[in-house]
Amino acid sequence: MHRLAQLDHAHIWHPFTQMRDWLKREPIIITSGKGAVLRDVHGKEYLDANSSIWTNLHGHQHPKINAAIVRQLKKISHSSALGLANEPASKLAAELVKAANPGSRRREEADSTLVTKSISSSGRLQKVFFSDDGSTAIEVALKLAYEFIRRTRGWSSRFSVSPNKLKLGLQPKFLAVDGAYHGDTVGAVSLGHIDLFHKAYSGLLFKTDKVMAPYCYRCPFNKAKPEREDARKYRKCNWECVGKVEQKLCAQKRRGNPYAAFVFEPLMQGAAGMIPQPSGWLRQVTELACAHGALLIADEVMTGFGRTGVTCHVDDAAIGRATKSFSDAKLFACSRVGITPDFLCLAKGLTGGYLPMAATLTTQKIFNSFLGEYEEFKTFFHGHSFTGNQLGASAALASLNMLQTKQSVHSRAVLQKTMADELKSLWSLPNVGDIRQVGLVAGIELVRDWQTRQPFTLREQAGIRVCEAMAQRGVLTRPIGNVIVLLPPYCTTPAQVRKMVTVLREAVNDTL
Ligand SMILES: *Cc1c(COP(=O)(O)O)cnc(C)c1O
Repeated sequence: MHRLAQLDHAHIWHPFTQMRDWLKREPIIITSGKGAVLRDVHGKEYLDANSSIWTNLHGHQHPKINAAIVRQLKKISHSSALGLANEPASKLAAELVKAANPGSRRREEADSTLVTKSISSSGRLQKVFFSDDGSTAIEVALKLAYEFIRRTRGWSSRFSVSPNKLKLGLQPKFLAVDGAYHGDTVGAVSLGHIDLFHKAYSGLLFKTDKVMAPYCYRCPFNKAKPEREDARKYRKCNWECVGKVEQKLCAQKRRGNPYAAFVFEPLMQGAAGMIPQPSGWLRQVTELACAHGALLIADEVMTGFGRTGVTCHVDDAAIGRATKSFSDAKLFACSRVGITPDFLCLAKGLTGGYLPMAATLTTQKIFNSFLGEYEEFKTFFHGHSFTGNQLGASAALASLNMLQTKQSVHSRAVLQKTMADELKSLWSLPNVGDIRQVGLVAGIELVRDWQTRQPFTLREQAGIRVCEAMAQRGVLTRPIGNVIVLLPPYCTTPAQVRKMVTVLREAVNDTL
């Protein structure tokens, strides 16, 4: 076994990993990367088919991001944001605010299939709170929303909850979506609803409510028989999932304690199993949430920075249009459907996937509720040592710059179309039940038999085995249960996409 593998086995505890299984075999040790390719200690090359767990945007060793980091490195790597400002963080905050409010920069040329009028509860996103990763970005939104609601609903002076509310056991309450994953810190876990990950810690968590996810492929209200197509396209239902959200919102309002906030991953839930929302769901539920007084917390940790694509309907004309029209280049799922949330949580792709950094964007209204005389202690007492880190901010600025070039918009449009074309070939496999693509991310759900939708049990490890077979053939990705994830870096070439899909097909054939 390689020397480094021995050290790993001796000392490293890997995340989300059954270490007994891990210790049974020699791990792949990555030593370098270039574009969409990763290389291991033995010189073997792999395609990075999940963008290093959904973080990488432009590929590894991108000269522009490398140069931005090096330039900053020669000035300073880190100084504290507690009491000090710095150059790249200030510039990045301004750029993020611009990118998150595309409609206010130029007249909205909205994608007419998605947007009619804008949904917003407290206005334009204006302020940026930096932290380190997706979980902390969510944690910040959660605490800000909690405190904002307590203040605006007259529940608190700083040091006491009004006795009235306390007697009733009332607390600001959060509504999230079933299967949601918002990170692993205790607050983020409380908002999450994946039993497998979260149940063990229930004693540590505060209670949040959940509504059903619009998981068309396995929806109890979907009366359609399985077809060889994305289940959203042939669903037969009456939007019962939206009705469920409305019921929850109404019931909580009747209890005299409307939800403080509705937390959601817009357009596609990631770790839930790449569950895409049928067109219209997001606007309907966010409109309802706003109408019932809930703030909107959008978790775009996975969907942000162009991941949900350049236009919703992929065709050749769209690619031509994408290069002409920057309105198609909206970087956030929320902007694409005309929603301005009260909190926009960003991480994974923020730095192009080079350094750990996160941001929580919020509105002037939320910000103002934390203003006061010093001794009122309305301060947001929260922060991390590496908040506003200069190296991270420099990488993020370089990445954001690139995302806004015509060239990047065009190559994203091409990648999206290539993925759609290549993925079609998987429908011929009887073990493929659903293929769901949103922009530049796709989930392929493996089943025992597509005609019955019968799933593999977790014990069978169908997803894990298929991904292992893919790794042997030079394509790296991680499954979510029985769902294989394809989420390539934006620099992935059509030939590389073809290889990812071909290898997936071979792996399914050989393994199942
Ligand atoms: C990954 C992820 C998180 C957590 O981010 P970390 O950086 O891993 O803490 C939160 N929300 C979503 C949607 C994610 O995909």
